[in-house]
Amino acid sequence: MENKKTNETFVMPVKQVHPKMTKEMYEKLVNYRVKKCETIEKLHHTYNLPVITIRANYPGILKNNETTRFVIEEIGKTFDAFFHDKMLAEETYDTPEGPTTFYVLSGDARTLKENAVFIEQNHELGRFVDIDVYDIDEEYAITRFELHYEPRKCFLCDKSAKECSQNKTHSVEELIAFMEERVKEYIRNKE
Ligand SMILES: [Zn+2]
Repeated sequence: MENKKTNETFVMPVKQVHPKMTKEMYEKLVNYRVKKCETIEKLHHTYNLPVITIRANYPGILKNNETTRFVIEEIGKTFDAFFHDKMLAEETYDTPEGPTTFYVLSGDARTLKENAVFIEQNHELGRFVDIDVYDIDEEYAITRFELHYEPRKCFLCDKSAKECSQNKTHSVEELIAFMEERVKEYIRNKE
């Protein structure tokens, strides 16, 4: 995995009207997922502590853009403030899943996941990120289900995000427009 500052490898083609994932993009995504697992394993091995990833929950396939980078930075600031004394490592990359920050934090993984769900549910931009917690020696992230939380809701309606995504209830354009409008509103309110 290459660092964000020098990395141009994962930049996606110029946006088309209805962007479809090409074979090449799909392969990059598959290769990245392998690399992501290796990175998590490596961090587990080095620190013997839980690893957390934060990435933007951006609809569509062109996931590295101003909106997603801004969302990751803002949530990162909250995260830094929240976990200031527990943080041992922090690395951000542009990836085929969008900008992603990897953190190593000391503490109980399930408690960290509860804090992560709190941020996802209460930060103004929380609905636009996925925060995953990987406990030591566990390959898969801790699920909301395991901790008895409701599944994540869709941006636009009251149904679960999974249901709307599987049924393609909303167009990608509609979802992107909603997210971008909310982010602009957040920036306006901050000024
Ligand atoms: Zn929906």
